[in-house]
Amino acid sequence: MDSIPGFFQSTPVSVRDLVDVALVAYILYRFLLLMKGTRGVQMTFGIVVLLGFYWVIRFYNLTAVEWLLSNILTYIVFAIIVLYQSEIRRALAGIGKTSIWGRNQDRGGSGFDEIVQASTNLASRRIGALIIIEREIGLRNYVESGITLDAVITYDLLVTIFNPNTPLHDGAVIVQKNRILAAGCFLPLTLDPHLSNELGTRHRAAIGITEETDAVAVVVSEETGTISLAIGGNITRNYDGPGLRAALSAAVEGKTEGRDSDPGPKPRREAP
Ligand code: ATP
Ligand code: MG
Repeated sequence: MDSIPGFFQSTPVSVRDLVDVALVAYILYRFLLLMKGTRGVQMTFGIVVLLGFYWVIRFYNLTAVEWLLSNILTYIVFAIIVLYQSEIRRALAGIGKTSIWGRNQDRGGSGFDEIVQASTNLASRRIGALIIIEREIGLRNYVESGITLDAVITYDLLVTIFNPNTPLHDGAVIVQKNRILAAGCFLPLTLDPHLSNELGTRHRAAIGITEETDAVAVVVSEETGTISLAIGGNITRNYDGPGLRAALSAAVEGKTEGRDSDPGPKPRREAP
């Protein structure tokens, strides 16, 4: 027991050390926040695995593999700069404008009623729409492909955006909490070969984004005037207003609010 006070006497912890450690923790925290919801997470994981592998190889003294890996790792630095260029750009642009307390503290209602009303109105007039609702995984990569709005969700704004005569109607609207982040966003199309031919690119984009992220996609078909909901790469078609409202609540609020709550029924996959 005497060794514990002895340890602190032999290595005095100064205020400078504390500030040093706190700064490292803060920088790591900001880095993780920046990576959250982007492909950077997988890339970081890949690099960590590679470094771990390199360490194991050095430990067992496998010289030939070590030579190969150490040569590869020299070029990894350049690969990191290329692979993370959008993250690095964003980080540099973000320095100075971020607040310690972060943004988006306001939840202030989910905006689902506005989405449901707009969807049913657009469906009745056979106007196509694609609304992506963010859950845990950030959609910043896709927001950047569109036109930034950062506006509170309202029925009027949604109906205006998807009006076919406007420049914003082409592509997807991305929603985070009760705000529309962007419109005219380009999403990845699903490559699932078993989908019905009735599902064109709008529906394939809705399925595609829900395969790659945990987002929820509401699709209004301009051809059939039906409302569909895509979750986790599955699409369920022919929703009416109340059905869509219930499904959205179950999918989004069931997951993000109250971790113990029942996530509600999951839509089944549409038969091909
Ligand atoms: P609908 O039933 O409304 O006709 P659909 O599934 O048949 O839909 P298309 O007719 O091909 O699909 O719809 C084309 C529209 O879908 C485009 O005008 C565009 O607004 C949207 N869209 C197509 N591809 C994408 C994409 N990759 N990301 C976002 N939106 C897209
Ligand atoms: Mg079509």
